[in-house]
Amino acid sequence: MTKLIELQDVTKEFGTFTALNRAAFSIMEETSSMTAIAGESGSGKTTMARIMLGFTEPSKGRVLYRGKDIASMSTAERRQFRREVQPIFQDPFDVFNQFYRIDHVLTTPVKRFKLANTEAEARSLIEDALSRVGLRSQDTLGRFPHELSGGQRQRIMVARAVLLRPRLIVADEPVSMVDASLRATILDELQTLNRDLGISIIYITHDLTTAFQICENIVVLYQGNVAEAGSVERVIGDPKHPYTQLLVSSIPLPNLEQNWGGEDFITLEAASERESRGCRFAPRCSQAMDVCWRTPPEKYLCDRDRLASCFLYRDKPTLRTDDVTEAFGGPVAAKSDHRKTGARSRIDSEG
Ligand code: SF4
Repeated sequence: MTKLIELQDVTKEFGTFTALNRAAFSIMEETSSMTAIAGESGSGKTTMARIMLGFTEPSKGRVLYRGKDIASMSTAERRQFRREVQPIFQDPFDVFNQFYRIDHVLTTPVKRFKLANTEAEARSLIEDALSRVGLRSQDTLGRFPHELSGGQRQRIMVARAVLLRPRLIVADEPVSMVDASLRATILDELQTLNRDLGISIIYITHDLTTAFQICENIVVLYQGNVAEAGSVERVIGDPKHPYTQLLVSSIPLPNLEQNWGGEDFITLEAASERESRGCRFAPRCSQAMDVCWRTPPEKYLCDRDRLASCFLYRDKPTLRTDDVTEAFGGPVAAKSDHRKTGARSRIDSEG
């Protein structure tokens, strides 16, 4: 198995603030996967996405794309990287130039990457990309961004990504500004692209429910550090790290039998009074021990396919490497079928 993209010991500092601390993570080339990077605002998830996309430079560490450091790519390699790793952003309105028709965001990549030899070929490619996200060209082309709904604009951005046939889509909160009714549709479309076109998806989100519904694996970040990572069934269905337990206890999970909650957690306001040199979650953790305040925890493999950075599991083995995807437990196809019924039906059934 070879790595498509890899973060090696990546740290990002903004002045004295560490947004991401020694992140090590990879996506394999041979299997198309759907991985969630989850956390609250300030967890470092968007920083991680931007570093992966090459939009933000790490303060320390490296990002490799197919084995090549993206910081030292030639122009041609960079161009290929730009084509093969596509972003989808939270607010599609920001991406559109309000003075251009919608067509512009679709024809520009066709020209830039020379995807078609003739006008007719270009048109056919664009129509195919639109239909893959459930849009009809006659309803969308020729219009201005403000004439479309937020959901339609986001689907145009997904179509734009599809047009380029990327290997990886990094979607940063792609549905957080979309109407609830369209949220499931767009998430279903991402799943379809993953399944039918073999595109790996990294889904950046604060929402564990949708992460559970569409992804196989998840990395939970807390203040720039990995708190827990592994299969979504393990991490969300049976969270081990006190922070993940806190997150899971605060969301409705109709598909899970277990109902977490009842743990006493220290509020963010009360926690801000104290600082920890060890585990970043110690000020909020009701199970914090002396060691937690002094030393950052290792990443302990609680199960075959899940790690937790928490001293409660210090009797377990640690990861062999720093790469948290080591806790994903092998090929995805062998693991899970909980995604089979599609996000739409499940989200609809939640009302
Ligand atoms: Fe709580 Fe300690 Fe675990 Fe941190 S390492 S989550 S403080 S028990």
